[in-house]
Amino acid sequence: MPWCQECAKYFVPNALTVEGKCPKCGREIAEFTINGKPLDRPVTHKTLDLKSLARSNGEDEKIPWHFKLLVALLVGYLSWRVVSLFI
Ligand SMILES: [Zn+2]
Repeated sequence: MPWCQECAKYFVPNALTVEGKCPKCGREIAEFTINGKPLDRPVTHKTLDLKSLARSNGEDEKIPWHFKLLVALLVGYLSWRVVSLFI
């Protein structure tokens, strides 16, 4: 939680300015982190990069094998339900 030393006050992140500064005294107090990884700049509508935010450790996440198995079984089941309508 951002703490302003001069104002001796905690701020919720939404109460700060877009640049992460204190709304009263203007000192920079925000620490921008995503998934525990510090960011060098605040995320705004101009600097938003969804792919970099989705990465937890800088690498692209792979789809787990059990999810692929679940999707394959679901497709097989739904296909069988469609076939069973006409049998
Ligand atoms: Zn302040």
